[in-house]
Amino acid sequence: VSIVDLLRRPAEIVGSDNNAAHSGIPLPADLYRPQRENSHGIEFGERTALHALTSAIAAERKAAPNVVATSTTEQANAAVAAARHGFKPWNGTPATRRAAILNKAADLLEQRRAHFLALLQSEGGKTLDDALSEVREAIDFCRYYAAQGQKLFGEPEAMPGPTGESNALALRGRGAFVAISPWNFPLAIFLGQVTAALMAGNAVIAKPAEQTPRIATEAVALLHQSGVPRSALHIVQGDGAVGAALVAHPAIAGVVFTGSTEVARSINRTLAAKDGPIVPLIAETGGINAMIVDATALPEQVADDIVTSAFRSAGQRCSALRLLFVQDDVADRMIEMIAGAARELKIGDPSDPSTHIGPVIDAEAKQRLDAHIARMKQEARVHLVGEAPAGNFVAPHIFELSAASQLREEVFGPILHVVRYRAERLGDVLAAIETTGFGLTLGIHSRIDDTIEHVIDRLQVGNIYVNRNMIGAVVGVQPFGGSGLSGTGPKAGGPHYLTRFATEQTVTINT
Ligand code: GLU
Repeated sequence: VSIVDLLRRPAEIVGSDNNAAHSGIPLPADLYRPQRENSHGIEFGERTALHALTSAIAAERKAAPNVVATSTTEQANAAVAAARHGFKPWNGTPATRRAAILNKAADLLEQRRAHFLALLQSEGGKTLDDALSEVREAIDFCRYYAAQGQKLFGEPEAMPGPTGESNALALRGRGAFVAISPWNFPLAIFLGQVTAALMAGNAVIAKPAEQTPRIATEAVALLHQSGVPRSALHIVQGDGAVGAALVAHPAIAGVVFTGSTEVARSINRTLAAKDGPIVPLIAETGGINAMIVDATALPEQVADDIVTSAFRSAGQRCSALRLLFVQDDVADRMIEMIAGAARELKIGDPSDPSTHIGPVIDAEAKQRLDAHIARMKQEARVHLVGEAPAGNFVAPHIFELSAASQLREEVFGPILHVVRYRAERLGDVLAAIETTGFGLTLGIHSRIDDTIEHVIDRLQVGNIYVNRNMIGAVVGVQPFGGSGLSGTGPKAGGPHYLTRFATEQTVTINT
């Protein structure tokens, strides 16, 4: 059975809203159920209230910009020492209790949704739709890892063995786990890392991105309030130097990191150079993500999916589309449609509900993107140069390259690079994608099963999306993460994630 056939079968598995909705099978109450959410469900009154809340937080932040202090190396070391103390009792806490605490955190997030939405808008520059889906994802991570963790960390699993012996396998926490998270999902990825490490029985030292310290501080407070002991969860604030100090600490038991490939490499080197226990790294890094569009695809749907994949969240997702391969017969029409749709996007204040694209994260990001745009204007054919208001805004741009190799690195913003290909040269397209060395997301738009199957078989990419957009992986539905330059796996929001935060112990008793 090919993957394409498998995907065509009606869903048999109960466990996601989509499947349940199609099959009509009621879901058991304790099962994790992901939901989709967007601003269509938010009423006018709620929007107005939210706008006021966001403005108030923005004003507060303006009045006291450095309210979250950077931690010193001594404080980082003290956090590791305290986490080591906190580890044993937390690891000994029954998995059902740990899961109940995470479910409580999910409840509190639901209750305080407006507050976190406002924080995401004011500190993270998120539009209403992006903020809504991020709070939803954060809630999903808590509930999903709670459900998975009860299965994995509950009773030890009996192993078959010769008569006269009983054998059992148990999963346990590793120790003091360092979690280093990015600014682009300051709530969802932050909480995803932390709750996974906690559910597996670890004590956690969290180091959020320096651009989004307040969201992280409040998320940690919420976990403490939900019942995570203070000794089991610590937060350390600051830039890469603070993260590096944590990683270099001799007593840490693991690191989970989401960010650039370059930083993941440097963490790996630090861990490898240390004496003492061998410390695992779970890294989720970037991608030069491609989409392949052939002449059989439906142009209107393709245009919409490309605009979403390349420009939503100002292109600041590691899943975002960077490199579009479009078959030459349809390329002119396709590019025209994408450019037309992109011109309609409204750029500006993220707390204005009609905004599609908010700011990029900071002035440094804007400078980097502007430099790339300037280079592309020299080296590529220009199809769209959007206009952005003053400030840290970058408008959508579309550049056509003569070869994919002109794009040498991940460009983290709303900039789409297009390469035309001839149908008989699909092999060259696949080779070009492989040559990037990344393997995070991939889009395919085609009506030809053989093409779809061939591409899926050939490319080693973590998340492949066929005939839809390629962002917004749903927890427990599209487990997320890649390989090669894109990371180590396991996939966040997937059934194998928690095990990598754990040690395994076999106990054999001669009876
Ligand atoms: N999981 C997100 C998505 O599917 C991307 C995460 C990231 O940017 O790190 O869009």
